[in-house]
Amino acid sequence: MLHVDADAFFASVEQRQKPSLASSPVIVGGLGGRGVVATASYEARRFGVGSAMPMATARRRCPQGVFVHPRMEAYRAHSVAIMAVLQRFTDVLEQVSVDEAYLEVGGADHGVHELVSAVAAAVLHETGLRVSVGAGASKLVAKLASTAAKPRGVLVVTRDAEQSFLDALPVTALPGVGPVAAARLTELGIDTVAAVRAQPVRTLERLLGTAGGTSVREMAHGRDARVVTPWRGPKSVSAEQTLEFDTPASQLGPVLDRVLVAAHARLLQAGVGARTVTVRLKDTDFAVVGRAVTVPQATSELGLLRGAAVRALAAVVAATGLDAEEESGAGARLLGVHLGGLSPQEQLSLLPAATPSPARGLPVEPAEGDGAERSPTSSSAPTWRAGADVVHDELGRGWVVRELDAHRAPSGVPEVVVRFEVTGDRSARQRRLPATDPGLHAAEPEPVRALR
Ligand SMILES: [Mg+2]
Repeated sequence: MLHVDADAFFASVEQRQKPSLASSPVIVGGLGGRGVVATASYEARRFGVGSAMPMATARRRCPQGVFVHPRMEAYRAHSVAIMAVLQRFTDVLEQVSVDEAYLEVGGADHGVHELVSAVAAAVLHETGLRVSVGAGASKLVAKLASTAAKPRGVLVVTRDAEQSFLDALPVTALPGVGPVAAARLTELGIDTVAAVRAQPVRTLERLLGTAGGTSVREMAHGRDARVVTPWRGPKSVSAEQTLEFDTPASQLGPVLDRVLVAAHARLLQAGVGARTVTVRLKDTDFAVVGRAVTVPQATSELGLLRGAAVRALAAVVAATGLDAEEESGAGARLLGVHLGGLSPQEQLSLLPAATPSPARGLPVEPAEGDGAERSPTSSSAPTWRAGADVVHDELGRGWVVRELDAHRAPSGVPEVVVRFEVTGDRSARQRRLPATDPGLHAAEPEPVRALR
């Protein structure tokens, strides 16, 4: 089987869509006071910057780095594109995180070298992103192989070579061997997989407990019976309610809640989380309008789904004009909630500190069709998040490099530094604009583009 894992995924998407950063240290994560690094590009890793590190530490280690907020929509689109490529190589694919999957491709070693190279090349060609690919007889070996191949590599570990491959690895390479277990083992000089194999099982059990000791010993021998398990459950669940009377927009809140709770019950029954919440309305004229809001990761938490549903409903109401027709007796005849993007994985703790800050002007997860809902008030200039997509009426598409508050801006008014460039473009132009420039708007991320 194969294990495929994108290299420095979030940072690579940033470098792809911001070509001027292609060889820069790029650090993606929460940029606020207590923010944490989500992903660092390989250029940034050379400065000792790594995932889950406090952003303040990353800034100290790599002052010349480019620090940007995560753009989950762009990462998700690239994730979908990568998985679509992988799907062509197998019927049995198990996605285990946003940028990682196992593929069952048959047991024979014959032809595997060509296959892993073809997989990596296809992903690169269609998404512009590099993945590492490992091949082995088990999930354990395939994953360890892709890790050893990183970055931009492929590694096939045949059955014959398996034990010597494992033996040379540090014991910390084995899944589940954390710092505490590693410390106990290395204290006795057990620092490689080979050294683990040399121990009697009772020594390992004494150090790591019965389960831990057995598990480490099994892994050290390459024994892993887990199979690649594709998601075969439902792709979506939904619920709807037909309303007895045309119901004005202002009274739809309780209806939304009832319908959402019904859809949520089906979600729980399926034992999965949802990533996309779509609210559909049929209005007095029988026109059906739907709007979707996507949350950063699949969840079954009712509170998170409710937040998304409320935003989706607001977008639908605005799109139908029902809010303005309160007086005229117009209303909704049917309200439906559709929960999509179902997946059994809820564990993607990718962004420990990436909760969108409501004080910021740019919507992190805009409802479909209202991407430019920046809402400046007369008293304060809009604020722009570093890394965010923008489009300027005259200057075209670009991204926010940084904001300059009034004290730091030479002009004495808040400014924003924007770099104008798109995927594959080598002519980035950087401009300083007033933060209130009426020609500057928030934009959706560029779509995934194939290499030309
Ligand atoms: Mg990865």
